[in-house]
Amino acid sequence: MSFQIIIDMDKCTGCGTCYDVCAFDVYGEPEGGKAVILEMDNCTGCRSCESQCPETAIVVNEE
Ligand code: SF4
Ligand code: SF4
Repeated sequence: MSFQIIIDMDKCTGCGTCYDVCAFDVYGEPEGGKAVILEMDNCTGCRSCESQCPETAIVVNEE
């Protein structure tokens, strides 16, 4: 099973919460005020980032 992360970059403020909460190093440090995805393949689908993004900018989909 693999997962896809979709970020609404219009909503993203680059707060870094997704980077902080993901225990699987999917995200890099935000750049230019926006979230950065480094390793989508590492995603376990735990949905911590989705539930904790203050802007509700993240959706995690099962593929
Ligand atoms: S937690 Fe949400 S608003 Fe913050 S950097 Fe990640 S996607 Fe953007
Ligand atoms: S769903 Fe979990 S593993 Fe996947 S990017 Fe979000 S916090 Fe990381």
